[in-house]
Amino acid sequence: MDLFEGLEKFGLKKLNTKSIFSDEENNRKQSEPSASSEEKTEHSEEEFLLARTVHCPVCEKTFMNLSVKNGRLRRIESDFDLRPRFQYIDTNKYDVTSCPKCGYTALNRFFTHITTGQIRLIREGVCDGFVPEKTKEEQAVYSYEQAVERYKLALYNAVVKKGKTSEKAYICLKLSWVYRGWLEGLADEGLGDSEELSSYRKEERLYYEQAFDGFIKAIQAEVFPICGMDENTLYLLLANMAVRLEKVDIASKLISYILVSRTASSKIKDKARDLKEEIIQRIHRQNG
Ligand SMILES: [Zn+2]
Repeated sequence: MDLFEGLEKFGLKKLNTKSIFSDEENNRKQSEPSASSEEKTEHSEEEFLLARTVHCPVCEKTFMNLSVKNGRLRRIESDFDLRPRFQYIDTNKYDVTSCPKCGYTALNRFFTHITTGQIRLIREGVCDGFVPEKTKEEQAVYSYEQAVERYKLALYNAVVKKGKTSEKAYICLKLSWVYRGWLEGLADEGLGDSEELSSYRKEERLYYEQAFDGFIKAIQAEVFPICGMDENTLYLLLANMAVRLEKVDIASKLISYILVSRTASSKIKDKARDLKEEIIQRIHRQNG
């Protein structure tokens, strides 16, 4: 499966990489530190969005980007793997900033954090030959198709700019969450044929696996906090992901680490204990 499927229309070349993490070893030295579930009510996603003017550090032009008005959001319980969830809107769709003029795209938190060297790489590897989409009317919301496309562009840019392993892993995790939100939305409305649903489920899994592998590599090479997460938070996230990916040995190791950690809060330790209990029950079920 191609991680960048659907990006051909932007005129981007096929990236000659077997793995998005493959050139980590060579690049470690050079890498510079970088500066809903929707309910059927009268509430619309639009109410929670704001069109913001953004300056692009790569082409120096400005463009409009939709972002979430945080103050109005009502949080509901996160998923087991920390996927944030809010009433009436899937905010994960809006975590990417993308310049429609030159193609430079990144997660919101990393968009302005770009080095001069990376700008040069992006200009050569993304902007040259980038085909802007025909100007559409000002959009009020992003569809799931568009959100997926924006994340794939962000991933493509991250590979081109030789971004950190954790940044690529985080993009993959969030992209997989977007697929999850999409699937939930389709299920709620009873939409989508089985072929469509199963292809989105495969994509969700594909990016989830990439995210897991990337974060495991990142914790060996990078300094915490990683993507805003401290050690224990990331270990708990990875333990949960490992359970979902049926990598029970890794999950158990991560849980043991959290349980003996001096810095883990009691809340995180409780969650690690719950997860341990869940693993034990799973093993019992499999053996029984
Ligand atoms: Zn630009």
